[in-house]
Amino acid sequence: MRYPVKLLTRIDELMEADQGKSYREQLYKNLNAATNPVDEDKPFRQYLGASVIGGACPRAMWYAFRWTHKEKHPARLQRIFDDGQIKEHSFIALLRMAGVTVHDKREDGQQYGMTAVDGHMRGHLDGVVENVPDAPGAGLAEFKTHNDKLYGKLKVSGVKETYYKYYVQTQCYMGAYQLPWALYLGYNKNDSNIYGELIPYDSKCFAHSINLAQTIVYLPTPPARCSLDPTSFDCAYCDFKDVCNQTKPVLINCRTCQACEVQKIGVVCKVENIVKSYHEQLAGCNLYRRNPCI
Ligand code: SF4
Ligand code: SF4
Repeated sequence: MRYPVKLLTRIDELMEADQGKSYREQLYKNLNAATNPVDEDKPFRQYLGASVIGGACPRAMWYAFRWTHKEKHPARLQRIFDDGQIKEHSFIALLRMAGVTVHDKREDGQQYGMTAVDGHMRGHLDGVVENVPDAPGAGLAEFKTHNDKLYGKLKVSGVKETYYKYYVQTQCYMGAYQLPWALYLGYNKNDSNIYGELIPYDSKCFAHSINLAQTIVYLPTPPARCSLDPTSFDCAYCDFKDVCNQTKPVLINCRTCQACEVQKIGVVCKVENIVKSYHEQLAGCNLYRRNPCI
């Protein structure tokens, strides 16, 4: 594993030299320019996310893409997700303070994105960085926050072994933007330590992830379970376990209807033979018949 030792040393030295003054200046600049990344009018993702394609269960990915269920998270978990978003600004401020060039937004103020599988797979990059003292040229930046236990594992085993899903996510973005390396920064929520790793591009992982996404997107029926044991770790913590075990009905919308077909051109209703918009899919119609394979 390669570590961005010079970068992390520079960050600590600069923060100690001015006691965080230039970091805070950068941070408030970033926060003032921040936009809300969540579109409240669109509760479901229209696409299969690059952030989930390295997950343990393709069936769970299919259920998410087909809008079978929307998990309501408890307040504590929601705070964890939101804190992760806010922390991205802090990472960018640290990097800018250390002289790293961070491209985190396009000219229109939106995040840089990647698309694949005819637009049915998408992802959003935390940023592209240049002038990282430990790596030449431009690379991807990926920021995460961690609890103490997993941060400890990350330090020992690295990103690929500890968080395969995050590893795959970085590969998808590197592959899409043809970047040779990714700067992964992980923040320990317990003691504010920062872990850094330089992850090289892995073309096989990228190709495999895109092929898997292609399969999931165009499959009319859910793929096989990752486990037949509902008490296994992945199933016990799966948002879709009730759908998978048929203990709760699926949500009614076009994506769970038997007349729905995902095509290159979009999500198509085979009754009307037209592509349905996001809000039309959400509404369904009174000809709805549940996909019997779900
Ligand atoms: S309950 Fe288990 S098998 Fe079913 S979708 Fe979730 S992880 Fe996959
Ligand atoms: S029949 Fe109705 S619910 Fe089913 S896909 Fe067509 S528009 Fe959607």
